[in-house]
Amino acid sequence: MANQNQNQEAAVLSFVNRKREDALSSLSGHAISPKICEDDLADVISFFQHFSDAVDTSPAFSALRDAAQTVRKAVYGDRVFFRGLIEFTNYCKNDCYYCGIGRHVEGVHRYRLSTEEILACFRNGRKLGYHSFVLQGGEDPFFTDDRMCDMITSLRKEFPSEAITLSIGERSHESYQRMFDAGADRYLLRHESASEEHYAMLHPRDMLLSNRKACLYDLKRIGYQVGAGFMVGSPFQTAGNLAEDLRFLIELSPQMVGIGPFIPSSGTRFSAFPTGSLTMTLVMIALTRILLPTTLIPSTTALGTIDPVGREKGFSYGANVVMPNLSPVSVRADYALYDNKICITDDASKCQKCLTTRILQSGNLPDFSRGDHVCFSDDRNKDEATNK
Ligand code: SAH
Repeated sequence: MANQNQNQEAAVLSFVNRKREDALSSLSGHAISPKICEDDLADVISFFQHFSDAVDTSPAFSALRDAAQTVRKAVYGDRVFFRGLIEFTNYCKNDCYYCGIGRHVEGVHRYRLSTEEILACFRNGRKLGYHSFVLQGGEDPFFTDDRMCDMITSLRKEFPSEAITLSIGERSHESYQRMFDAGADRYLLRHESASEEHYAMLHPRDMLLSNRKACLYDLKRIGYQVGAGFMVGSPFQTAGNLAEDLRFLIELSPQMVGIGPFIPSSGTRFSAFPTGSLTMTLVMIALTRILLPTTLIPSTTALGTIDPVGREKGFSYGANVVMPNLSPVSVRADYALYDNKICITDDASKCQKCLTTRILQSGNLPDFSRGDHVCFSDDRNKDEATNK
């Protein structure tokens, strides 16, 4: 048994070292090695799952962490990019089984922010130094294409050069195109699970993985910087599913990847399922970093919720983005995707100070520029990058 473990560990170490070298040589313009076999990935993931409490004691974990750090630094240096998150509606027509603001979840106080209120969040964010904003919400039919485009046009008028990211779920190609033309430049849409079978266990029948994937490809084709991603430890998830997630990400090649632990939410059908593992979340972040070296990866609020220094740990495993909340404090508690979400009482400047300190203490550099993906960045980034 001990021998078998040693063999597995040796295989994982060799995988991590190979991928580290591939990532570094791809950055210097050399060809990347052939496609990864899904079985290899599933084996690597299940190896880490078996050791999931031994995060700092096994050589495989430290090799993975070092590889992820090295690759992150080779692409983006020590910088951790700030995005101001504005959760502008918690109305949703969907019923994702894990989500605390799903249509049928009872006791949720529903709200929508007006364009004027959103503008006020942007102004506040700009005063604090932000150049990158994310507008997230449930799939709220109130926000028709006309309303979204009017809102984006107003924001663009006052903020011509800031990054405007949308995260409002599945829409038509035409809708994505209109919002892009109105001035939105990035879009976050986690694929949630790349396995048809697993996706169907997390969503009602009317939600299809094929549609979600089609949306992601539409967004890429239109020219958005696109973010996909998934939860770690969502109910019924296997190592094979996580391997499929990574394979799909490699195929899609998004600019951003959001990975956070599943956290149960009371009032949902998954309320009694266990929280996703911190260690496995870090492992999946690190594998994403070495397999997709140039992606922007947030150290998520969910990671900070399950561990007081979860976000700092995320940076050491390859994450390089934080998304503090700029929504008015009065609505924060209503955007409860899961239980015990952190930062629901702190105003924007307090969140910013707290995160800045955490980033500096972990040996990284807070960056308030637009923080574009390397393939989209221009000189504007360099001018605006400040240690603010
Ligand atoms: N309506 C948008 C935004 C969804 S909320 C959309 O469809 O993209 C943003 C993300 O929060 C989701 O994609 C999901 O991965 C995550 N999330 C939802 N419920 C969660 C939970 N219980 N635990 C952890 N993450 C959750």
